[in-house]
Amino acid sequence: MTALEDIPVTTLKGVGHALAGTLAKLGIHSLQDLLFHLPHRYEDRTRIIPMGSLRVGDVGVAEGEVVKTDLVMGRRRSLQVTLRDSSGFLVLRFFHFNAAQKNQLAEGVRVRCYGEVRPGRAGYEFYHPEYQVNPPPMPATGEATLTPVYPLTEGIQQPRVRSLCQQALGYLKRYPIRDWLPPTLLADYQLPAITEAVALVHSPPASASVTLLMEGRHPAQQRLVMEELLAHQLSLLQVREQIQAREALPLLPTGELAESFLDSLPFRLTGAQGHVLAEIRQDLSQPLPMLRLVQGDVGSGKTVVAAMAAIQAISAGGQVALMAPTEILAEQHFQNFRNWLEPLGVELAWLSGKVKGRSRAGALERVASGQASVVIGTHALFQDDVHFQRLALVIVDEQHRFGVHQRLALREKGVEGRLAPHQLIMTATPIPRTLAMSAYADLDTSVIDELPPGRKPIETIAIPDSRRDDVIERVRSACEAGRQAYWVCTLIEESEALQCQAAEVTAQSLLERLPGLRVGLVHGRLKAAEKAAVMDSFKRGELDLLVATTVIEVGVDVPNASLIIIENPERLGLAQLHQLRGRVGRGEEASYCVLMYHPPLSLNGKARLQALRESQDGFFIAEKDLEIRGPGEVLGTRQTGMMQFRLADFERDKGWIEPVREMAPALLKDRACVEGLVRRWLGERTRYGDV
Ligand code: ADP
Ligand code: MG
Repeated sequence: MTALEDIPVTTLKGVGHALAGTLAKLGIHSLQDLLFHLPHRYEDRTRIIPMGSLRVGDVGVAEGEVVKTDLVMGRRRSLQVTLRDSSGFLVLRFFHFNAAQKNQLAEGVRVRCYGEVRPGRAGYEFYHPEYQVNPPPMPATGEATLTPVYPLTEGIQQPRVRSLCQQALGYLKRYPIRDWLPPTLLADYQLPAITEAVALVHSPPASASVTLLMEGRHPAQQRLVMEELLAHQLSLLQVREQIQAREALPLLPTGELAESFLDSLPFRLTGAQGHVLAEIRQDLSQPLPMLRLVQGDVGSGKTVVAAMAAIQAISAGGQVALMAPTEILAEQHFQNFRNWLEPLGVELAWLSGKVKGRSRAGALERVASGQASVVIGTHALFQDDVHFQRLALVIVDEQHRFGVHQRLALREKGVEGRLAPHQLIMTATPIPRTLAMSAYADLDTSVIDELPPGRKPIETIAIPDSRRDDVIERVRSACEAGRQAYWVCTLIEESEALQCQAAEVTAQSLLERLPGLRVGLVHGRLKAAEKAAVMDSFKRGELDLLVATTVIEVGVDVPNASLIIIENPERLGLAQLHQLRGRVGRGEEASYCVLMYHPPLSLNGKARLQALRESQDGFFIAEKDLEIRGPGEVLGTRQTGMMQFRLADFERDKGWIEPVREMAPALLKDRACVEGLVRRWLGERTRYGDV
């Protein structure tokens, strides 16, 4: 039996080779793909808005008579068409136009137009509106319908997509869409069947609530939202199943090494560290690969927890790989682990992208022979030529961007390619619970929800950059009193080269302004060895002030640093600011964070700096960030497409997260259903998708 997903789009009238190619760029091959290319919003063209009641930002239809049409010279030549209705005036402005258009829009002609209201020289204006001259009568109220708006790609316009979808809807009678959800479930939530829902969103009837549709809350939309969230959930659970289909080396805790290690520490573990360790210990002792995400706010002491996990693996005869996202951080871990573990007779190896030639060959050899029990580095750890003798545990630090298929690939690195290593992912980005439940459905989570005792709160101050001199004085007096300070230069959405350049300029000017101080500089363009050398001298107290780009964002731990200046904080996300601020407040001294902003601040900018000043709780801050900027920003994965949905909106639809999580395990048993839903919603984005 043929199904909608087996019918190619080329079946539709007007779809030839070229158009099929364009549609393929949108992931559309079959009629089913086309019908799951859903409108992401609607335009309300159902009624005419009186010109007198238009407000800036309104989007809609206006209609009136042309009063005059002028060619305006100004900075950019434009055609200015003034319309009038019984309530007021509206100007249509065109920067690109031709003579025919100018003649057509002559005085006295009726024009219906659709656009967004902007303030203009001569009152409100529409720039380049869609318009119709001498329009047909509007459909009567109660008969007009909303106009769907689709995601596009180069080479295809709205009207084309609209008409193709309308054509495809004609096939639904003969080829209904397979409904994978049990009718009882739909009944429970009072949701329509899939075919009905799809038809409605492409072609909403006049009777459907305009408000609900515009807000994405219509039951037909919600049915699709729920199914989409479910598909994502299932694809992640499927990854988990695939990883756990392999066995792992059970790592039974033996006490000795762990005890010597704990004895050597100058502090005792916090309750939260102990609690999370117990969860890890339990997982590691199973013949099933651990898949655990440890979240702990900056400074909560994740490194020690990682070391304890490593020790459990080593004492059971396994090898451990610890991966960090940057050279600086990997290097810092290498030093910590060496200080902690070498005295206990454990051998370590160091592998980063910058390790080359003989030293690389040597490290590879010690890893392959099993002589090194711990190997630390950047992602270079998992290049093809890295072979482990008995890899039992992989620890990934500060890498919540670490994608699903990377986790999947790790399976292959285990013992004899047969036993999968245990996986421990650590992040200082607190992830709100609902977000963690959907973005990390394949992982168990632990939270270190307590800071080591004696930490002093960081006092956070927002100061306009007009007071730069005062800020520089503050740096001087802190450093003269024996403290150390960071000065963070930020530029976002600009090239890394520009960032580095800005940091260089800042470092130079601070050097001139603060002649008595020892000033260092780190940025992404320095060679790894240079970066490490600067970080080292800062750590050893040989530098007073470290000027840096956001490369020091995660993990860097220098307890004597008690002052951090962040330039242009309004450009950064809350989570990132919280991370940066976490570079201080790690020692005995009271610490300060100065947010030196460039006025005027937007309302949003004000709210964010305020949130940061009020709270030092990473979870609270992340919740705020999620509200203000959405999940892609919070996870730092906007670019990767992770958590990018067709229809679902994380804020609006978070009410579905719990129910979806509850219904997923039962559906997971039905292979065909999982395959069907994942293909339908995730399509070409690899099946395990970097979703
Ligand atoms: P993060 O969780 O941000 O990675 P770190 O592991 O770098 O935090 O730890 C921050 C600092 O706290 C380090 O200097 C570490 O030695 C110290 N530390 C960790 N655990 C404790 C503890 N239980 N008591 C006191 N200090 C601790
Ligand atoms: Mg850390």
